[in-house]
Amino acid sequence: MTDAPARLAAFLEDLEEARRAREVTVVVVTKFHPVELVRELASTGHRHFGENRHPEARDKADALGDLGLTWHFLGQLQRKKARQVARYADVLHSIDSVELVDALEGGEPGDERPVRDALVQLNLTDDLARGGVAPDGLEALAERVAAAGALRLRGVMAVAPLDEEPASAFERLARHAERVRRIDPSADWISAGMSGDWREALQHGATHLRIGTAITGNRPSGG
Ligand SMILES: *Cc1c(COP(=O)(O)O)cnc(C)c1O
Repeated sequence: MTDAPARLAAFLEDLEEARRAREVTVVVVTKFHPVELVRELASTGHRHFGENRHPEARDKADALGDLGLTWHFLGQLQRKKARQVARYADVLHSIDSVELVDALEGGEPGDERPVRDALVQLNLTDDLARGGVAPDGLEALAERVAAAGALRLRGVMAVAPLDEEPASAFERLARHAERVRRIDPSADWISAGMSGDWREALQHGATHLRIGTAITGNRPSGG
């Protein structure tokens, strides 16, 4: 046993006070942690888990296939691996290019595959090398996702830049989210907020918080 279930319970209590009756989904980010930790957290009834690397994510989803968990893929999606990820990931948070959507749509006609929830990841920094589409490409990409048979456009995702107050970054994200809702009013998810900035994200409309270390404790390595 670890402290993670107790930390999850404490986190959910804090969130209960902060969310003011809004529906919020907590995605517990378990990257670098063993599958046993996910099982322990799932035994408390929690169902949403996030991972950022294939094949680590696949191995966990496979090992826990009997638990009915919802898997969120948060990391950069390589075009070559994208369809493999879409086999086990229920929600893709990191759609960042039209080419990636093309890759997700490819394959043999008649291939059986579930339609996946998709979020367009926005790059809120000026560094084009960071993950996510630049804001001026948002509409074109969101429209491409909306037109994709393999995906259901759900909204936007972003990580706050390191050199900016999270609140101001999330305020911009909320405005970008509105641009996506003009394309599809039902695409109203905002995936934003991590262990260090979830309160700011919540203030600016986050519907999905991605919480790692505050619940899991420090990652074993590299993450
Ligand atoms: C690791 C990760 C998180 C969780 O970060 P914490 O600071 O541990 O809460 C959230 N989002 C993404 C995209 C991540 O890669």
